[in-house]
Amino acid sequence: MKIFTPAVPGIGVGRVKTIGGLALPPAIPLSGPADAEADAVRVEEAIERLCAGYDRRLDALDRGVEADVLRAHRSVARDPEFGGTIVSAIRERGRTAAGAIAEAEAAFARMLAATGSVVLRERALDIRDVCRALLREVYGDALPADEVVLAGDSVCVADNLTPGQFLALDRRRLRGLVLAHAGTTSHTVILARNAGIPTLAGVTGLDAGALEGREVAVDADLGALVVELTEDVRRYYDMERRRVERRRRRVRQFIERPAATADHRRLEVAANVGSADEVAAAVANGADGIGLFRTETLFLARPEPPSEDEQFEEYRRAVVDAGGRPVIARTLDVGGDKPLPYLALPREENPFLGYRAVRIYPEFEELFRVQVRALVRASAFGPLKVMIPMVTRLDEVAFVRAIVADEQARAAAAGRPFNPRMPVGAMVEVPSAALMIDHLSRVLDFFSLGTNDLLQYFAAVDRGHARLAALADPLEPSFVRLLHRVVDDAHAHGRRVGLCGDMGGRATYLPLLVGLGLDEISMAAPDIPAMRARIADLSAVAAGAMVERALGASNARDVASLLGTYALWRELPLTDPELVELDADCRTREEAIKAAVDLLSAVGRTDRPREVEEAVWRREETGSTGFGHGFAIPHCKTDAVGASSLAVVRLRSGVDWHAADDQPVRTVILLAVREDAQASAHLRVLASLARRLMHDDFRAALERELDPAALCQLLRT
Ligand code: PEP
Ligand code: MG
Repeated sequence: MKIFTPAVPGIGVGRVKTIGGLALPPAIPLSGPADAEADAVRVEEAIERLCAGYDRRLDALDRGVEADVLRAHRSVARDPEFGGTIVSAIRERGRTAAGAIAEAEAAFARMLAATGSVVLRERALDIRDVCRALLREVYGDALPADEVVLAGDSVCVADNLTPGQFLALDRRRLRGLVLAHAGTTSHTVILARNAGIPTLAGVTGLDAGALEGREVAVDADLGALVVELTEDVRRYYDMERRRVERRRRRVRQFIERPAATADHRRLEVAANVGSADEVAAAVANGADGIGLFRTETLFLARPEPPSEDEQFEEYRRAVVDAGGRPVIARTLDVGGDKPLPYLALPREENPFLGYRAVRIYPEFEELFRVQVRALVRASAFGPLKVMIPMVTRLDEVAFVRAIVADEQARAAAAGRPFNPRMPVGAMVEVPSAALMIDHLSRVLDFFSLGTNDLLQYFAAVDRGHARLAALADPLEPSFVRLLHRVVDDAHAHGRRVGLCGDMGGRATYLPLLVGLGLDEISMAAPDIPAMRARIADLSAVAAGAMVERALGASNARDVASLLGTYALWRELPLTDPELVELDADCRTREEAIKAAVDLLSAVGRTDRPREVEEAVWRREETGSTGFGHGFAIPHCKTDAVGASSLAVVRLRSGVDWHAADDQPVRTVILLAVREDAQASAHLRVLASLARRLMHDDFRAALERELDPAALCQLLRT
């Protein structure tokens, strides 16, 4: 099976609907306009109508990702360079309106691609959207209709999809997206993520024509597009959907509770955001604050920098929407992969090692001052903190602090409210800063580990380098030592330290981050509920002991296996009423085993249900676990479970288990024991279960019992 990039996780089943690009009818030529001046005027008027249309839609929408996208489109349409390029192609180069728009679309896309920035390259889709909308304004009904009607549950397949095309789809019927060329940070994918539409990217070479109308499954957990939907496969995906839904319902309970480990170590779980619009949703997902507000998104893909008022409004809104929770606004982090057209930064051989972030502030002092001024004003509205990117030396901090102090003095002189104690911290994302925490602590109030950059500089591997990705492993003991030193040094000097790199949102790394003793972990908002649930299952003491061992390891593989095998979990009873299902609709042994493992997944006893199933099947293949009398005891030893567990599934109708007495099985008792449990524990439980099951009255009681708690009690005795 071919594995594709899962851009938005999840599973969806529906009929394929292919969506193509916009084809101009032959009646609309690309060059040789009948009346060039008339075409030019038509375009100018159409741009005005388009902008008015964006204004109207924005008035009705106000905020959210959709509003963000519309604002981006409006700023393209309003950009004088955009309209100017089109109109001059008509007036000076004999293009028709259609030809000039198509040419402009291609030229802007080339320009964005040449920046080498993934983020900007993906903004080309926004320009395509605006161009399509403009063509429609100019030509109206002379263009073929591009409305896509989804008749029922649908999976849309496209080379690429613009955000506008996505928004025009009926999202109640859209079950999945399959895209050839979308990147994971495009607006279309962000919109899909927000709407919870499972999406695969990088899916090339499909015969879309042959698939049209066929029912397929988008498995964006595994990265698969399943085109042969047999009855068994369909039932499998139904079960998967139920499993994910149950897990989601369960983790949402943790949103309301303070994040703490099982041994009561508090930890803040915060969100990374790119705009004030995302703050409310982050809070609704359980964010204790905003650990990283990447303010540069406000400055990108526009012809001029945002004004002080525009910035103030954005920061104020972020603070107000956070409702008293802290918001860490990172000052402008541009240069490198994020060029700004209006700064005319030099093209560099090695942009990541070049003129970027805090390094450009002295040259563009006014630009930076305006941002600080807006932040100082917004600090009057709630606990706003400022964070400096790419700090390598103390004098950079001194420069920023001086400007902050200066702007605060100006605000005071003008009688404007602000928070005089607004904390100023720094990203720890360059190794030289990581080794100077003692001195930096004298001039900074807090730190946040930017592991994306820290790792690229530390391991000497470009963060986007596909071939060398394996060399940039955050589990390298050297990197764990570096993180450990930063946390220890910060705490020794009374400073809080968080982490806001991508590794913060990965469940597998969580025990390491807890064991390091971080005060805060910041991640994408959708990851927060599951991480809060996971933290509650961890023991901080055991995690700390695991980190001690990791510090002595000689390679990343050993650290990974320490992470996978170390008993980090709180003591859990072997069984639990939530591990009981009393009326499962399963037709085969495969489905029954999956149903039992899915119970473990739903309550969070495993993050890796597929591994647990594989371990069970390795045992099944050595001989049937059918016990006889309608019972089966499938079992395994595996560290894919966080605690040894026993799950019970009573089946609606019996299934064949190749049991010795040939009787169909109606009750499945699954036992999954951790590898590190006492060698005898597994056998002891199995033997005593088997002994009890020999008794008719025990079996009858198990089969009769309708209350999961009572059933657990029976098993415990
Ligand atoms: C980082 O470098 O880890 C980080 C969080 O910042 P960015 O990804 O924006 O560079
Ligand atoms: Mg960074």
